[in-house]
Amino acid sequence: MKFSIMTLFPEMIESYCSLSIMKRAIENSTIKIETINPRDFTLDKHKKVDDTPYGGGAGMVLMAQPFVDAYESIKKDENTLTIMLTPQGKTFKDEHSNSFAKYNHIILICGHYEGFDERIREIIKPVEISIGDFVLTGGELPALCLIDSISRKLEGTLGHIESAEEDSFSNGLIEYPHYTKPREYRGLKVPEVLLNGNHKEISKFRLEESLKRTKEKRPDLFEKYNSTKE
Ligand code: SAM
Repeated sequence: MKFSIMTLFPEMIESYCSLSIMKRAIENSTIKIETINPRDFTLDKHKKVDDTPYGGGAGMVLMAQPFVDAYESIKKDENTLTIMLTPQGKTFKDEHSNSFAKYNHIILICGHYEGFDERIREIIKPVEISIGDFVLTGGELPALCLIDSISRKLEGTLGHIESAEEDSFSNGLIEYPHYTKPREYRGLKVPEVLLNGNHKEISKFRLEESLKRTKEKRPDLFEKYNSTKE
């Protein structure tokens, strides 16, 4: 899977991807990351990428020409998906991660300042994705959320792909509780069932805990899960 990230701040992407699990996924060639800076596509000597909004108002708007030229410089094929990060997009969910992981190449367009000149959307026609109903200063953190979450779905990123398959949301529920050594900490004991090696009982305990937690913490998911089961 190749990610091409269009950003005015490539260092933000490079810094995150140089650590931990993302670093390993790059090293073992599960993912490839390239950054494209629209500033390198400006036509004026000051390398201007933003300007004041027509109609007035606060903030600076990202200019169409450097973004469209940067986008058109990226090699694409029929397996390329283009995503624009914007608070106006569809809210990103685990099911998006699963379907986006089927592409070979994903282009992520990060905004900044007041956002994009509308003609960037009109010309590129990207899928628009938001990471939630709040506004950040730029699209780099949202792009990294997508890169991280999609990469976890690919064989080779995690030590065990089953880790992702058992994670919260993968079966419509949130995950059961985990415990590790010691068996007792500050008077709190690990549930007995996890110590007896009976895998059938352990699975039953975990499913029950998952259901209990989902009902308590995410009644919306619980209702959806129940109606699907019915
Ligand atoms: N004026 C824009 C609006 O109200 O929709 C917000 C612009 S925001 C300050 C700058 C950039 O950050 C956006 O163009 C987008 O790329 C990114 N961004 C901010 N919040 C986001 C979110 N919740 N999801 C995805 N991208 C976001």
